[in-house]
Amino acid sequence: MIDIGVNLTSSQFNDVSTVLSNAQENNVKKIIVTGTSAQESKNAISLCQDFEKMFPNMLHSTVGIHPHEASSFSDSSLKELKNLTKHKCVVAIGETGLDYYRNFSSKEIQVKSFSKHIELAIDIGLPLFLHERDAFDDQIKILKSFGQDLPKSVIHCFTGSQNNLAEYLDLGMYIGITGWICDKKRGENLRAIVNQIPIDKLMMETDSPYLLPQNMPKRPKKRINEPAFLDYVASQIALNRHESLDEIKFATTENATAFFNLAKE
Ligand SMILES: [Zn+2]
Repeated sequence: MIDIGVNLTSSQFNDVSTVLSNAQENNVKKIIVTGTSAQESKNAISLCQDFEKMFPNMLHSTVGIHPHEASSFSDSSLKELKNLTKHKCVVAIGETGLDYYRNFSSKEIQVKSFSKHIELAIDIGLPLFLHERDAFDDQIKILKSFGQDLPKSVIHCFTGSQNNLAEYLDLGMYIGITGWICDKKRGENLRAIVNQIPIDKLMMETDSPYLLPQNMPKRPKKRINEPAFLDYVASQIALNRHESLDEIKFATTENATAFFNLAKE
């Protein structure tokens, strides 16, 4: 399996090599580390480099500025991101998008940062790793404004409505599903519509250390989520789509391999 969204630079992971061997033991062969700011993107790349010897080809990363961090966006941070894409472990631009749930950064700067990230992805020919919360209308408007130029994109940690899903799919987007789907209350809507995602558009992620899957029979003491727990997300998806676990694992691995242009093994 491939975990397409891991916040591996988080200080909650104090022993990354154990996290990676746990992942391997649980059949998670590749991980895309999420870049959330210029600095965190740099840190993500360093992790890829540091663990390349011990875990060859396992770590890849995105570079981008999360909408919460959009106030740190500037021409110079954009330049920095562009420079970082020269590293061969970088496989996507993001996470980027709009988050009006908390508005940690103003809407204006979020929109500017988002548009510039899309332009960067077009410029260097990388796919987009997108985030959106409570900002669907503006997000889809911006995405549509790029028309045919829009690079292939994945909406990571999708938690929206049935209509949102249909419109994203209309634009050809891939959909990333996290342990949100395992959450008794919050995941109800997602469980009802997950079968509407064509299997060739589906990807899986833990978004760890966040979103510990609630369907784990025994939760870890510190409640820190890990890529090793991706299986619980896969099981829930399989259950609600009425497909076999093997089918889900196979398809999502194929999709992520092609989308991020990863080496096949
Ligand atoms: Zn996100």
